[in-house]
Amino acid sequence: MGGNPAYIVDDHEVVIEPWIWECAQLEIKRREQYLEEHNITRFSQNTEANPFSSKIICGECNRAFARKGWWTPSGDRKVWQCSERYKVKGELGCGNRYVYEDTLIEIYLMAWNRLLECRESLVSEWGRKMQGEDLLERLQAKNFMEITKDAQPIKELDIDLMLRTVDCIRVLENGVVVIVFLDGTEIEYSSKN
Ligand SMILES: [Zn+2]
Repeated sequence: MGGNPAYIVDDHEVVIEPWIWECAQLEIKRREQYLEEHNITRFSQNTEANPFSSKIICGECNRAFARKGWWTPSGDRKVWQCSERYKVKGELGCGNRYVYEDTLIEIYLMAWNRLLECRESLVSEWGRKMQGEDLLERLQAKNFMEITKDAQPIKELDIDLMLRTVDCIRVLENGVVVIVFLDGTEIEYSSKN
């Protein structure tokens, strides 16, 4: 492997290497499985306004969290809660805790910066995956190798970067939040609401 994934033959034609094309098919399948596994109808089209849509997963029942706006003494805050919480009106379904969106952003930033700190030890793992049989794993390892190269710690949410690197964020009942990156790295933090 190596070289450019796509190269320009002439002004109009772009040839995609077969393994990249195959990856795209596998990625479509992976996303379908993800939606099915977490009982989500479709991925949000409005990632700018709601970047975490479909990405926050309940650690208790494996369904997706949904976002709500809540008025609190400190103003309007976005909060995420399991979509199974009130499945039947008036009846409590999944009992998992809620989590504030600012908390999720804060934890995501810490996790990404931590991943950058650990880059040196992850590089050998990515290198191994880039030689492996699993095409999606190969592509993700390659992406992470490139994205993290010379990358600086971030202080604010970079939506594009987050969407390219985060598989999902699991919220557990005991307050632990696990950021699952697309290369397979998982970093967890304890949250306090
Ligand atoms: Zn749940």
